[in-house]
Amino acid sequence: MSHDCLFCKIARHEIPARIVHEDDEFLAFHDINPAAPVHLLLIPKHHVASLADTAPQDGAWLARMLQLVPALAADNGCNPLPEGGFRLVANTGAEGGQEIDHLHFHILGGSRPWSKRAAPAA
Ligand code: 5GP
Ligand code: ZN
Repeated sequence: MSHDCLFCKIARHEIPARIVHEDDEFLAFHDINPAAPVHLLLIPKHHVASLADTAPQDGAWLARMLQLVPALAADNGCNPLPEGGFRLVANTGAEGGQEIDHLHFHILGGSRPWSKRAAPAA
């Protein structure tokens, strides 16, 4: 199914992004308006509006998506644990602060302080 949302277009390479990871299922790229020294977005390539639009049969790919996060963080400038680390955020729905209706994980990290925008909500 073809979708016209912004992140579908980025996933199809129709809109440029600073891509740091791509495989058959997922794409990760730098947020255009970073709220921390490291601010990546990780999306499924297929259109899913939000975490609230996933079903039990989505569990396997959601687990694969989640399991990409630590290496993406480490490979793109987040400092090593235990002193370093990263924040994982999935804004969901209007009151959750979701602006783009295509499921995405924010991966935030780097030496603090971060901007006010990144804490407590990204
Ligand atoms: P949300 O508020 O939906 O959780 O997050 C959407 C994020 O997408 C925001 O952090 C925003 O800066 C980012 N964003 C919006 N438009 C673009 C774009 O065209 N390219 C990239 N790389 N990020 C974008
Ligand atoms: Zn989409």
